Amino acid sequence: MDFRLTEEHEALRQSVREFAREVVAPVIAEHYEKHTFPYEIIRQMGKMGLFGLPFPEEHGGMGGDYFALCLALEELARVDSSVAITLEAAVSLGAMPIHRFGTAEQKARWLPKLVSGEALAGFGLTEPGFGSDAGGTQTRAVLDGDEWVINGSKAFITNSGTDITALVTVTAVTGTRPDGAKELSTIIVPSGTPGFTVAPGYSKVGWTASDTHELTFDDCRVPAANLLGERGRGFAQFLRILDEGRIAIAALAAGLAQGCVDESVRYAKERHAFGQPIGNYQAIQFKIADMEMKAHTARLAYYDAAARMLAGEPFKRQAAIAKLHASTVAVDNAREATQIHGGYGFMNEYPVARFWRDSKILEIGEGTSEVQRMIIARDLGM
Ligand SMILES: Cc1cc2nc3c(=O)[nH]c(=O)nc-3n(C[C@H](O)[C@H](O)[C@H](O)COP(=O)(O)OP(=O)(O)OC[C@H]3O[C@@H](n4cnc5c(N)ncnc54)[C@H](O)[C@@H]3O)c2cc1C
Repeated sequence: MDFRLTEEHEALRQSVREFAREVVAPVIAEHYEKHTFPYEIIRQMGKMGLFGLPFPEEHGGMGGDYFALCLALEELARVDSSVAITLEAAVSLGAMPIHRFGTAEQKARWLPKLVSGEALAGFGLTEPGFGSDAGGTQTRAVLDGDEWVINGSKAFITNSGTDITALVTVTAVTGTRPDGAKELSTIIVPSGTPGFTVAPGYSKVGWTASDTHELTFDDCRVPAANLLGERGRGFAQFLRILDEGRIAIAALAAGLAQGCVDESVRYAKERHAFGQPIGNYQAIQFKIADMEMKAHTARLAYYDAAARMLAGEPFKRQAAIAKLHASTVAVDNAREATQIHGGYGFMNEYPVARFWRDSKILEIGEGTSEVQRMIIARDLGM
């Protein structure tokens, strides 16, 4: 058992750490306040190869692995979660389904743009009427000659409405199985397809510099060849995508938890109360020690899940544990970091205010904490 990073992974971590501090940190607060999408940062991340980390070189990727993506997400989220979730969703939800399940033509058409970061893709599973209960999908796709005709709507879809969004993959009911259950399939819908409407961005509590929209499909026609993988495999596909995605979200949450430690140590050394830095008081030191313990164990949990996944071993339970634990400690650390900052922690100009607002969604997106507990319990035979 060896949790030390390889030279390549360590070099990647260092370069993303520097990028986050030097390029993201100085400008992100303004994007966050104005709710603007940070196109310039995303362009530079594309040039660094971050969108291609886990993809093969033949499609323009970096030939790395999923763990490399997680390391990058952790370092970005240590400074800002809007940028981190944009990368997470672009790679793990956007490009990965095409890489895993797409035909040779689909890969050749879409992957080079997506892995370079020149274009983004969204993954539309959640609908206005359901999220956790993914089997409740109402969106329907009917084959009419050589076209799918899609009707329905999707809620909260990340990266679905930027100026560089190329497509959204949507899950839809395409028929009924012999046992009476819904047949679910996944279909690629390019941006700008007639009948595909992207609503204005939501007004969100956090992740305000990321892109999230409700989508509607009104007799939206796409070629039959846009079916992703086999018809009827939609359920299995999104379960696989979400299992992997949970490791990525855990990495992002570990980064936010660590960012709270970074900011708290800095502030506790600078801020004086009763004649000395507040960091001299054991009450503050103990808070920060607990925060460091939580960030560290969150990191170990996602390292473990990623290692199992890359070894080809079962990792569903460990991914759920990592996501549940890391998101819980991210919320804990954000709350404590705000407390350590006193009144300034409630001011949006301080990074910890962003961390606080960004932490809660980690217990909700890509499977709520209740859903993670259901997965863990089921895997234990309950
Ligand atoms: C900013 C943002 C970005 C997102 N990006 C995407 C995206 O790119 N693509 C996408 O498809 N989705 C996306 N989502 C949707 C997200 O994954 C869902 O919000 C999430 O899965 C929860 O679904 P829901 O909101 O419908 O909550 P519900 O499923 O309605 O749950 C409500 C509450 O009930 C609880 N609950 C539900 N069932 C049970 C049960 N059986 N036992 C106990 N408790 C239960 C839940 O845990 C939760 O606390 C995004 C959401 C947000 C807010």
